Amino acid sequence: MEFINLKAQYNALKPMIDKMLEEIMTDARFIGGKEVGELENKLAQFVGRKYCVSCANGTDALMLAFLAYGVGEGDAVFCPDMTFIASIEPACMLGATPIFCDIDRETYNIDPVCLENAIEKTIAEGKLNPKAVVMVDFLGNPADVEEITRICSKYGLVLIEDAAQGIGAVYKGKRCGSFGDISTTSFFPSKPLGCYGDGGAVFTDSEEIAKLLSSLKTHGKGSSKYDNVRIGMNSRLDTVQAGVLLAKMTVLEKEMDKRQIIAQRYNEALKDVLEVPKIEENCKSAYAQYVLLAESCEQRDGIIKALKNNDIPSLIYYPKEMHKMDVFEAYNNENFPNATKYAQCNFGIPFSPYLTDKEQEKVIETILNYFQKEG
Ligand SMILES: *Cc1c(COP(=O)(O)O)cnc(C)c1O
Repeated sequence: MEFINLKAQYNALKPMIDKMLEEIMTDARFIGGKEVGELENKLAQFVGRKYCVSCANGTDALMLAFLAYGVGEGDAVFCPDMTFIASIEPACMLGATPIFCDIDRETYNIDPVCLENAIEKTIAEGKLNPKAVVMVDFLGNPADVEEITRICSKYGLVLIEDAAQGIGAVYKGKRCGSFGDISTTSFFPSKPLGCYGDGGAVFTDSEEIAKLLSSLKTHGKGSSKYDNVRIGMNSRLDTVQAGVLLAKMTVLEKEMDKRQIIAQRYNEALKDVLEVPKIEENCKSAYAQYVLLAESCEQRDGIIKALKNNDIPSLIYYPKEMHKMDVFEAYNNENFPNATKYAQCNFGIPFSPYLTDKEQEKVIETILNYFQKEG
């Protein structure tokens, strides 16, 4: 059984993807082909933003967002304690100081109360300039957009939505990837919208920021790539990846519907024995991962072992909080109980729009059997 069945997805979309790739190979426009612009237009329209600027990966997308808003030394950037390091790493590389905040006990997204407390504390200490908040749609579940937007306006902070896991998710009628001052995503193969290599994109409603992003991703270009007005990066989405993504976008909504059905089935079957994902009202998760919480680390490890004995893959997503990482040694003694509980008890089970009924039944049965035996 595949954890995320990208092989089945390719089989289902093979005629469309192969045709797209053949055209690109024949044209030999591997960089900057027309598919890149087409994709940017489609993506902007899909999430509901005016501009989409594609780039090489989701980490670069965040780097470009931080650069566009001038994040640097002396700045404090707030982010959830439970995320992938790429949410904050580029800000650190630019010299900013990360400030971690605990997550909500049930949604696993940044807790607005913890965020506001952290901002107040930073202001009171007076050493750093509170600059930006990175709001992550963790596991594909939309963050608490309204509260976090309110807090950012109150304190004059730049709000960045890291929607690497959230493409296809919906918050109160609006798609993820459209929130905050600027939003970013990743097309890493296993993400809800993934390509066949690396890729990423930045979304904005500001023409000025869109122009700046285009320059920053192209060696700080002025009127052309050979007329440079600032120090930038080389961060491109190649034509092949754009082609794959254009093909996949034609089924994205159908896949999202399928994700809801499969998640619902898992929820119903497992809610009495494990903590199932909590999605706020009027929201839809993209279910980048379907993650359950056991009541203890021992129970979690026991279930993972039972799954493994039945050839069912699982993944701890993620095993360590940001503040516990060696790279953030100065934060190791901080205390974020919800993020810690999550790290110790979470595990993801096989999930994709291509999971078959039979596979899903086997996963459910194996977990329920574990509880019957171990109580
Ligand atoms: C995957 C991911 C990224 C980084 O994307 P890459 O394309 O791998 O660079 C950033 N943030 C989050 C939350 C992610 O899951």
